[in-house]
This record gives sequence, C-alpha cells and structure tokens, in this order.
Amino acid sequence: MSVSGLPPYDPQNIFARILRGEIPCKRVHEDGHALAFHDIHPQAPTHVLVIPKGAYVSAADFHASASAEEIAGFWRAVGLVAKSLGLEATGYRLLANMGPDSGQEVPHFHVHICGGKPLGRMISSG
Ligand code: AMP
Repeated sequence: MSVSGLPPYDPQNIFARILRGEIPCKRVHEDGHALAFHDIHPQAPTHVLVIPKGAYVSAADFHASASAEEIAGFWRAVGLVAKSLGLEATGYRLLANMGPDSGQEVPHFHVHICGGKPLGRMISSG
C-alpha cells in the first residue's frame, strides 16, 4: 500500500495517460508543476481539475512525498487557474477526494475547482 492507504501508483490511470498525451483533454493551464483541464462530467457551470505532474496517488501521498517546490508550484497553479476562470469575484470551491470513503475515482491526486453558481453549503452524501 502507498503512504495514503491506497494501492501504489498505477501509471495507466486516466490522468497519467492525459499527462502523457495519450488521451485528449480540454486544457486550461499547464506549467512545470501542474496541468488543469475541464472535468468530463461537470458538476457545476465551471468544473476544472488540477493535477500535479508527478505520480502521486492522493492528497495524502502528494503532501507526504512531493518536494516543497512541487507542492508550492501545484497550489500556486490552482490559484492561477481559478483566477483565470474568472471565479475570484463570485467565489469557488476546492475539493480533493482522498480514498474509498470520499469516492475517489482516479488514483492520481487532483483538485476540483467548482464555481459559476451558488454551490450550497456542503457536499451531498448521495
Ligand atoms: P474523483 O472522484 O475525485 O476521483 O474525480 C475524478 C473526476 O475525473 C470525475 O469528476 C470525473 O468526471 C473526471 N474524469 C474522469 N475521466 C476524465 C477525463 N478523461 N477527462 C476529464 N475528466 C475526467
């Protein structure tokens, strides 16, 4: 098991394949530390995913294993992307699923940026 309690990193996961250019994405930002692209099943008028370029299974894995430079670069990219999407004035939600109870589907750490309408106070337990 990885540090996060999830299985070890699977280089065939869909986000790894997007990073390698094997699968297309609707890219909104890319730099040395992060790639951001529109979620294929948007849950809000704006729903973008930001992923680090390194191979990290989850939030726990990323924050325990990535370098300080990678962590800073990734989170700076999250802020830049939210700003570039025009979400700063109205606000937005950042969400990172981590492990089975969260329903994390893709085992490559990612942050959801959702906005474009009032989102309610919290998440559905659906
Ligand atoms: P999570 O449940 O936090 O692991 O979120 C995974 C997200 O990835 C979901 O919101 C999916 O809609 C999204 N997703 C899965 N495949 C793709 C893809 N090929 N391109 C863009 N988003 C995707």
